[in-house]
Amino acid sequence: MTGPRYATVALPLPVARAYTYQIPADLLTRAVPGARVVVPVGARRAVGVVLAADVAPPDVHARPALRALDEQPALSPALLALGRWMSDYYGAPIGLALRAMLPGPLWSVARPAGPGEGSERVVRLIHRLPSLLEREAAFRRAPKRRAAYEALEALGGAAPLRHLGQRLGIGAAVIAGLVRQGLAEVSVTARPRDPFAELATPLPPVATPDQEAVIRAILEGPVERPAVIQGVTGSGKTLVYLAVLRRLVEAGRGAIVLVPEIALTPQTVARVRGAFGDQVAVLHSGLSEGERLDAWRALRRNERRVAVGPRSAVFAPVQDLGAVVIDEEHEPSYKQGSAPRYHTRDVARERARIEGARLLLGSATPSLETLFMVDTGRAHAYLLPQRIGSRPLPPVEVVDLRTAERVPEARVIPWSTTLDAAVTAALERGEQVILLLNRRGFATYLQCPQCGTVSECPRCAIALTVHRTPAALRCHYCAYESPVPAACGRCGHATQRMGGLGTQQLEHFLGLRFPAARIARMDLDTTSTKWAHQEILDRFARGAVDLLLGTQMIAKGLDFPNVTVVGVVDADTGLHLPDFRAAERTFQLVAQVAGRAGRGERGGQVVVQTRHPDHHAIRAAAGHSVAEFAAAELPLRRAPHPAYPPAVGLVRFVIALPDATRAARLAERVAAWLRRANAGTLAGALAVLGPAPCPLARLQGRWRWHVVVKAAEARTLGRVVRAWRARGRGAVVVDRDPASLL
Ligand code: ADP
Ligand code: ZN
Repeated sequence: MTGPRYATVALPLPVARAYTYQIPADLLTRAVPGARVVVPVGARRAVGVVLAADVAPPDVHARPALRALDEQPALSPALLALGRWMSDYYGAPIGLALRAMLPGPLWSVARPAGPGEGSERVVRLIHRLPSLLEREAAFRRAPKRRAAYEALEALGGAAPLRHLGQRLGIGAAVIAGLVRQGLAEVSVTARPRDPFAELATPLPPVATPDQEAVIRAILEGPVERPAVIQGVTGSGKTLVYLAVLRRLVEAGRGAIVLVPEIALTPQTVARVRGAFGDQVAVLHSGLSEGERLDAWRALRRNERRVAVGPRSAVFAPVQDLGAVVIDEEHEPSYKQGSAPRYHTRDVARERARIEGARLLLGSATPSLETLFMVDTGRAHAYLLPQRIGSRPLPPVEVVDLRTAERVPEARVIPWSTTLDAAVTAALERGEQVILLLNRRGFATYLQCPQCGTVSECPRCAIALTVHRTPAALRCHYCAYESPVPAACGRCGHATQRMGGLGTQQLEHFLGLRFPAARIARMDLDTTSTKWAHQEILDRFARGAVDLLLGTQMIAKGLDFPNVTVVGVVDADTGLHLPDFRAAERTFQLVAQVAGRAGRGERGGQVVVQTRHPDHHAIRAAAGHSVAEFAAAELPLRRAPHPAYPPAVGLVRFVIALPDATRAARLAERVAAWLRRANAGTLAGALAVLGPAPCPLARLQGRWRWHVVVKAAEARTLGRVVRAWRARGRGAVVVDRDPASLL
């Protein structure tokens, strides 16, 4: 054939259509579907992915592609098909769907950056004083030094010298004092060592009969039916996944293991490494771009066969994929927050279908979506009802905060004598304690006792959180920060009252209550640096910390046998959010953190403090019972109640604009369009709700409205989002299967 040849190319842009380019003869063999090409876009150049080669010539003049970047197409035919599926299912522009699938540097026209990062002087704590007594002894006459120490600790143990000086006003002399005392060191950042590089835990040599039965049943079951491994906390689910994978890997196939957040699950990563050694590529955000690219290439070339990582690892270029495992499948972090807003579970199911791989979903508290798949025969559940070694699940005592006796010294802090006694006894026996409070900061708001004004974020319709060490009012949605005012901005009243307990205040109280205990706090504020999670969990594992407190971060799959007491300080923090999953998330969080207790021989005990002891989420969590929770919750998501997933599918259209009137007007237009579509081709299959202001009515200076549509048939929603994609309106976010309605 002579004459020019053409290909359609997807560009990583929010536009619905693909572009046609001419493919020069010397690029023809490489510019095949799935391969990256450099093409001109206006006056610039961009990297795109070939969708189809040898297409018909376009009506208008097509410019020639400039370079073809791949020897082997970056996206295999299976992954390209997965990208098309994502684009169609979520109504996302194809270019954005494909962009989510490849590491960032592969989209760069310039050479990808190497592993080097800019250097900077960093202060790092090298010796910790986790108990109040130690700290008081060390800083008797040095309050500034103590403040610096505590600020560093609150920042995760390390911070750039510049940040400390400019933002927090901590002088060089104070830092020098810490260094003299042997508590800190100042270094020019060399890249910190990757703590995952050598982590490996050998697997237990023999499976229990329960585990063996599940492993065999999964391997004998049909490949195309997802396997839900529903095992109570501590039942040994990890060994089951790995035994199934081992069969596949021994047969030369590859596998993907997905974890909610890699920094929070070092034990799982270590076990995968223990099972598969250097066949494993760990993909995590702590890697530099260059390192991540190396890991990607090693998988693409089949030099490594098992990928472990967070949600984006569902796209890992594993060759001859035999299985995808999703550990803690109920975790909200499996939903991507920006376009294409995919849910890893659904993408994994589609990828497994395309590639003929098994899908394994594991959790002690499966999502209702997954339980519904089991109920309707689209997945099969394998149960592990017993803990390893027949250890009992820890008894859970529910303390009613409305009536319970409290420790008087705790004042405003909800601290019952029951929880106090349990913690005191565990510490006396030299055992470890985990305390959950799912709210960071010191206090959740600051209010003037005279005029009632609450300090709010100027850009978001939300109260500012009070922080100490370092002190500031902070917005948890947009990171806005201001100094804590000395007086009320409205009426001038001199004292301000704080309300709502946060982890910093709890830590402060615990320090006073248990002065000899070594305490560590884990929340977003203490884990801002790369390896901070790992460092805190390491200290806890080594026994250098007695009491670990934190937000939901501490509830994820940790396995520490010396933890005998778990306390949920306030189980109600998420119970009343205006979101249909509020009860489900509360159940999962409480049941999961309860499951951290009693994993060793000494047994365990859990205390849950709540003002709603009869709520089904609390009761079911106290009984470690998924069945009880599902039996109470599923009917609430069906008629006569307003229907919600899994009973129906949802798509949420979010409109966010700086101008309030325009936002409301655009929302009206979106709703009108949806209603017209419903009256027309969709023949009334849709329920259109709204427009209404979002519960978070203003965020980052934008007014937010949403329109929520529901349909019983997935096909209906697919048609809606694709029709909307074809219209292409930038200011509207389309979120299918939303993780929240806030
Ligand atoms: P889950 O993820 O179900 O909560 P894990 O997989 O973390 O449970 O296992 C709980 C603990 O039991 C771990 O310490 C693990 O090493 C141990 N374990 C798992 N299977 C076995 C086995 N077959 N024999 C001995 N110990 C086991
Ligand atoms: Zn804000």
